[in-house]
Amino acid sequence: MGTPSHSCFLCSSDNPDVAVFGDVIRYPDRYVGPPQRAHGGIAVGSLLCPVRAAEGGENWAHFVSGRLRRPIPLNKDLGVELVLGELHEVSVADEDGLAMTGTVRLQAGDFAPETFIQEAPEELRGHLEEMAPLANAPLAGPSLISQSSAYQDKTSRGGINGCYGCSEQSHALRHKMYRTAGSDIVSQFLPEPVHFDDQGRLDTGIIAAVTDCPNLWVLMAQHADLGAALQAEEGRIWITGTHSVHYLRVPGRQKEFRVVTRILSQEGRKGLTTAALFDLDGTLYAVAEAVSILIDVPPEMM
Ligand SMILES: [Zn+2]
Ligand SMILES: [Zn+2]
Repeated sequence: MGTPSHSCFLCSSDNPDVAVFGDVIRYPDRYVGPPQRAHGGIAVGSLLCPVRAAEGGENWAHFVSGRLRRPIPLNKDLGVELVLGELHEVSVADEDGLAMTGTVRLQAGDFAPETFIQEAPEELRGHLEEMAPLANAPLAGPSLISQSSAYQDKTSRGGINGCYGCSEQSHALRHKMYRTAGSDIVSQFLPEPVHFDDQGRLDTGIIAAVTDCPNLWVLMAQHADLGAALQAEEGRIWITGTHSVHYLRVPGRQKEFRVVTRILSQEGRKGLTTAALFDLDGTLYAVAEAVSILIDVPPEMM
C-alpha cells in the first residue's frame, strides 16, 4: 500500500511523531487525548492518510468521518483495512476488535493553498454566517483551559490536562479557547511549520485535530465551572463519539487560525456541535460536525 507521491504530517518520516506506517497506525504519546487514550481528532484525521496513499496521485481531503468505538490505545499497532469506493470505508482494529470506523472522500488534483474545494453543507450555512464575525473578535481571557485547571485544583481532582488538541503545554497544538458574549466559544490556533506540507498547505489531519476538542469545551462551557462539578460530583465527562470534517478550502501558511464552535442541539447524554476553522479575515476553510457523549468517568481517569 502507498505510493511515493503521498506524504502528510502523520506519515512523513520528517515528523518525529509519525503515526501511520502503511496499513499500520501507532499513536505515540504525543497524541494523547483523555488520559492513556489517543486523541479523537488526530485519530479521525489519520483515517485520511492510508486512503490518500492508496488512491495515489495528487489528492486532497473532501470529507472524513470517524466513529470512536472504544478507547483508542497509545503505542500499540492498529491494523487498517480499506474498502475503496465512491465513499471509501476505513476500519482500524487490533486483537481486541474494532477501535474506529470511518468514511473518507477525496478530491483528486494538485491544489494550491487557498483553492476552493466545496461549499459548506447547506444546513450549517446559517450558523456559519453568524459564527464568522467571531473569527476576528478580540479574545477575552482567561482561557477555558486555565479556568478549568483552576477548578480542578480547587476540587483537587484530575491531573494536568495533557490533551494534544487542547492542552496549553508545549507538546500540544497551542490551541487556546475562550468564551464569547453568547454560548459559542472561539479558539486561537497558532500552527507550527511542521503542520504545513512543502507546498505550504495546512495538513488535513491537523485540521481534524484542531476542530475536535472545542466540541467538548463548548458543551462544558455551559457550566460556570466548566464541568468541574459534573466530573467531581456526578462522575461524568464529555468525550468524542463521532467527528466529521468537511474540507471547504485549502488553508495556506498563516500565523494564526481561529476555530468557532457552537452547540446545535443537546439531548440527554448526547451533544451535537459544529466547529469551523477560519483565518483572521473570516475565510472559512473547514467545518466539523461532532457527536459528543457524556460518559461515566472510567476508573483509569479518576
Ligand atoms: Zn499520510
Ligand atoms: Zn482536548
